Amino acid sequence: MAHLVVTGGSRGIGAAVCRLAGARGWAVTVNYRDDAAAAEATASAIRAAGGRAVVVKGDVTREADVIALFDEAARAFGPVTHVVANAGIVAPASKFADMTAERMRRVIDVNVMGTLLTAREAARRLSTVRGGPGGAIVIVSSMASRLGSPDEYIDYAASKGALDTLTIGLAREIAAEGVRVNAVRPGLIDTEIHASGGAPDRAARLGAAAPLGRAGTAEEAAGAVLWLLSDAASYTTGSFIDVSGGR
Ligand code: NAP
Repeated sequence: MAHLVVTGGSRGIGAAVCRLAGARGWAVTVNYRDDAAAAEATASAIRAAGGRAVVVKGDVTREADVIALFDEAARAFGPVTHVVANAGIVAPASKFADMTAERMRRVIDVNVMGTLLTAREAARRLSTVRGGPGGAIVIVSSMASRLGSPDEYIDYAASKGALDTLTIGLAREIAAEGVRVNAVRPGLIDTEIHASGGAPDRAARLGAAAPLGRAGTAEEAAGAVLWLLSDAASYTTGSFIDVSGGR
């Protein structure tokens, strides 16, 4: 039985991944940090459609929370087979020279440490060499890793660059242990992350200049994640799908 853990599954791209996986009959563990109502809404939507879902609160920057997330998931639905390391944040747009150390540390902590801890726990639990069932991991990176995000958030872009490198290394390290590791690099996707960075209209405004002429939806990003998780991607590891409207 497929059992998916999604960090940051309460809202945005993570929530869309949860809903799509639930609709495909996978058991889904929905992680969140603060927004319990949104996490419950995601799980309720899955159950209303006939699927199975549990909600687990936890901050991915805390090792104990990440371990507890996987423990609770396993208690609810048995061995975890698929993991999406999706939780991430931005900070308000700023010139790099004006960024405080505190802000940079926070972005790196959530996006890099949070994903490293999630991916490490996934590797421990999925690896067939360590007694796991095998499976697949998808890292949610960003087109920012390639574009650098000048004048907005170079710290965020650098954090996503680290995730691209993580994807390549981990994919090669555990390929023979029955686990595939890939990444999706979304471009401008219409979620609340832009408002959290102080620019609610950012996706619509900048998305209009993308070759496809618009921002993407969370479901469009989630579709790529689900493909990489699925058996249709059985010969794909260490790879990237850019979901960025050609940007
Ligand atoms: P979002 O709508 O702001 O949702 C962020 C999610 O992450 C929420 O579920 C939030 O939980 C969770 N989260 C944040 N910090 C967390 C922590 N420390 N521990 C656990 N969960 C945490 O963001 P989104 O746009 O869907 O982005 C999801 C991922 O896609 C991020 O990694 C982001 O960098 C990436 N991405 C997004 C875009 C875009 O244009 N939207 C583009 C490229 C990449 P709560 O609900 O509890 O706050």
